[in-house]
Amino acid sequence: MIDYYQYPDLNGHFEQFGGIFASETLMHCLKELSESYQKVKDSKAFQKEFHNDLAHYVGRPSPLYHAKRLTQTVGGAQIWLKREDLNHTGAHKINNTVGQILLAKAMGKTRIIAETGAGQHGVATATVAARMGLKCIVYMGEVDIQRQAINVYRMKLLGAEVISVNSGSKTLKDALNEAMRDWVSNVDDTFYIIGTVAGPAPYPEMVRDFNSIIGKEAKEQFDKQVGGLPDALVACVGGGSNAMGLFHEFLNDETVHLFGVEAAGHGMRSGQHAASINDGEIGVLHGNRTHVMSDDDGQIIETHSISAGLDYPGVGPEHAFLNLKKRAKYVLANDEEALNAFHLLTEVEGILPALESAHAVAYGMKLAQKLEKDKHIIINLSGRGDKDVHTIAALEGIEV
Ligand SMILES: *Cc1c(COP(=O)(O)O)cnc(C)c1O
Repeated sequence: MIDYYQYPDLNGHFEQFGGIFASETLMHCLKELSESYQKVKDSKAFQKEFHNDLAHYVGRPSPLYHAKRLTQTVGGAQIWLKREDLNHTGAHKINNTVGQILLAKAMGKTRIIAETGAGQHGVATATVAARMGLKCIVYMGEVDIQRQAINVYRMKLLGAEVISVNSGSKTLKDALNEAMRDWVSNVDDTFYIIGTVAGPAPYPEMVRDFNSIIGKEAKEQFDKQVGGLPDALVACVGGGSNAMGLFHEFLNDETVHLFGVEAAGHGMRSGQHAASINDGEIGVLHGNRTHVMSDDDGQIIETHSISAGLDYPGVGPEHAFLNLKKRAKYVLANDEEALNAFHLLTEVEGILPALESAHAVAYGMKLAQKLEKDKHIIINLSGRGDKDVHTIAALEGIEV
């Protein structure tokens, strides 16, 4: 059996995936970052401060909740929800930004930059920058700025400067490129906070580590509340940080089945989806080799999902690796299934899931139906759905 904790290797490779695809000038920034991260990873003082912030600022531990009515409604295995929606700011993303900003401080950086698509990572970054009193610049595509006006205003309230990116398709991938460019030119005082388990090494490892608190807590909570290990874990996959955060602690526990749920959007045959593992190519995006959504010329294409957070044209390299090794299975939920799951969870448990998380709920329910009542599934509820209420109302033709 493979020891999954040997990965990535010293150069950030998960076998053929990951690594560093970056310009010579960026290499210096990444090397400095890697060295600093390895130092704080082993530092008791850093870990103490990080865990203190998780407890008193983020509000951890998040509960592991037995969704009894959902279990009854679905029929089959017991469904448990890891409640990342109850974190400060309403999703798992804050686990990572709290960690990275502490590292920025340890490195003596005074200027924080980030890229954002839907604005959720931008808000999570602006939040911790406000708390630390650090200057924060968020790159965002012009198209996304128009689509996500509320999150843009939220970032401004938090004191961040939002820079509109007008190149290419004016969306997330162009914002990524612009943030990288900024970093190269301002490396002396600037720290780049990436929002998912993608990017060049050491980001995939670092973002995973900061989110791995999710699985550590879940393992302990499950053992205490039920005993032993769960049978399966289910999480949605955009870049893959909430999924890696839940999976990591269980990677070497062979009996625990792992399911990453990709967004099938309007359906796989429509071509309008964001399922990079199920229907992408191997390529380079965001400084690492992984599965990407690209056309015949290798150009990154626009993806579609009802949930903005899953609308990313790649996936973290560790997921590409877990797929290759068949340690995790990557499955699908489309827009309609996610919407139905959103409504059902809201109606039977009084919990509004984020549309991203609703993809995990949709697949989790299908899985539960196939299993006996004495089996247990943990679904990562990566975020709360309040942010999506307007989108859903508009889709359903309801005026609010
Ligand atoms: C951003 C986001 C996601 C997708 O990001 P991952 O890196 O794949 O976890 C999922 N759920 C919520 C609530 C998000 O905000």
